Amino acid sequence: MIIAIDGPAASGKSTVARALARRIGAHYLDTGAMYRAVALAALQRGVPLADEHAVATLAGTLSIEFIHADDSPIPTAVLLDNADITTAIRTPAVDDAVSAVARMPEVRAAMVAQQRRIAAEANAIVLEGRDIGTVVFPHAEVKVFLTASAGERARRRHAEMTGRGHSVDEDTVRSGLQRRDHADSSREAAPLTAAEDAVMLDTTGLSVTEVVDAVAALVERVTP
Ligand code: C5P
Repeated sequence: MIIAIDGPAASGKSTVARALARRIGAHYLDTGAMYRAVALAALQRGVPLADEHAVATLAGTLSIEFIHADDSPIPTAVLLDNADITTAIRTPAVDDAVSAVARMPEVRAAMVAQQRRIAAEANAIVLEGRDIGTVVFPHAEVKVFLTASAGERARRRHAEMTGRGHSVDEDTVRSGLQRRDHADSSREAAPLTAAEDAVMLDTTGLSVTEVVDAVAALVERVTP
């Protein structure tokens, strides 16, 4: 079973998708981490983000791996060419660079192929991203599009960033999210948009448990 969770930045996708996967015993794939890995590799190797050919060539050579310690359904680490990049992909620099690589059709094709391979190995999997219900798995059994107010998303992401030791103010986080959402929604290749048959869920003011309960109910409806 494929459960697709899409939505804008900091709408709660990761928290909800992980909690849901744990609750129903499904695997979990954070597709954003893959685009972040490509952006990080470009930054580390000095590949200009404006050079589509160079970034696409780089993306085609990278090995991005999700490590599941003790068979945990939730990956415990992300490796890029065997180096642990779990925290390195969550920096403001990667936040600012990622949309530029994610708009490239060749980069997307490489990532989507890998996402489909990973999903094919699982009985049930929760995938979170921007185009899961529209492009990667248009026939997913469950499709959810999470949203939350701009203020709440900025608050959540700001708390997350400061918790990780990055000193950024909330207004900067808010405008960064806005910029990224605008770039992700307005690109030609697989733009951020809700699938026509996705269930829209506004998580503003809801607890994680309330949102997970709502998505789990959708899963239950299609479980044979
Ligand atoms: O989900 P997260 O915010 O970590 O994603 C980082 C970026 O990766 C997004 O802003 C978007 O540019 C890109 N992305 C994408 N398609 C996906 C997942 C993420 O284009 N399925």
